Amino acid sequence: MRCKKCGATAAIHMRQHKLALCEMHYVDWFQAQTERFIGKYRMFAREERVLIAVSGGKDSLALWDVLLALGYEADGLYIDLGINGGLDYSKQSLARIEGFLAGREGGSLHVVDIAGVYGATVPEAARLTRRGRAKPCAVCGLVKRHVMNRVARDGGYDVLATGHNLDDEAAVLFGNTLNWQLGYLARQAPVLPASADGLARKVKPFFRFYERETAAYALVRGIDYLYEECPFSVGATSIRHKMTLNLMETDSPGLKLQFYLGFLRAKEAGALAGMAEARPVMEPCERCGQPTTAGVVCAFCRLWEARRSGDER
Ligand SMILES: [Zn+2]
Ligand SMILES: [Zn+2]
Repeated sequence: MRCKKCGATAAIHMRQHKLALCEMHYVDWFQAQTERFIGKYRMFAREERVLIAVSGGKDSLALWDVLLALGYEADGLYIDLGINGGLDYSKQSLARIEGFLAGREGGSLHVVDIAGVYGATVPEAARLTRRGRAKPCAVCGLVKRHVMNRVARDGGYDVLATGHNLDDEAAVLFGNTLNWQLGYLARQAPVLPASADGLARKVKPFFRFYERETAAYALVRGIDYLYEECPFSVGATSIRHKMTLNLMETDSPGLKLQFYLGFLRAKEAGALAGMAEARPVMEPCERCGQPTTAGVVCAFCRLWEARRSGDER
């Protein structure tokens, strides 16, 4: 295969776009596409400050790389969850992020060490609650959402960006559709506006890139990232959904993209109208001040109270 732009040997062939490119033109294409998605979906403006949730994996580091290359003011947030999993997962993740930053200008990193701030790692905290024992990933998600929102608010950031790619989003959509979770479907979007009650705007600038495309970008740019998935995610339904979608994609290139863009169009046309209003009224948590639907104290604060009292809920 030859590069469509210059005729040199192609480094990547994207069947879903009927496009083959050399390394140099791939980097140009990838960055220009990101810029286009940011504008098309009104994610953020030039002068806005972006906080990227970085994990040490390919997607979040590639996103940081692209935003800095495009000249955005983008800082990183790393949440040290204290996950070991036999490979020192959290420490290795941070080492990759520090390695990424060592070679470049601009972009500073916030690190929040959960055990240092709250007195226990996420796996320890998860074991102390009934919900966490059944689903440690649910506790992890709760902690990440809380901390991301707090750092965005305290640091005066306009927008919170994550590296979710099309494979991630299509797998979530697939799961939500299989179970007809209309409330989740109504809220699934590449851009979630800030809420009046204090939740930061959230955006996913890579939501139209295939996972293979973000991996190729990281590779071509020489980004050293952590290959391993979180040890707790093994066997997660989202991973099975990704495999199922990949099988279908092999027979019909472009299927994942069509599935997700078709969903956005249906939503735009009002297919889920009324469902988004199902979101309950949020009020500030009396401990931490972040919006919560759970009554007076939010689920995040209750998690740590359960830990302190040794009370198993
Ligand atoms: Zn080329
Ligand atoms: Zn709270």
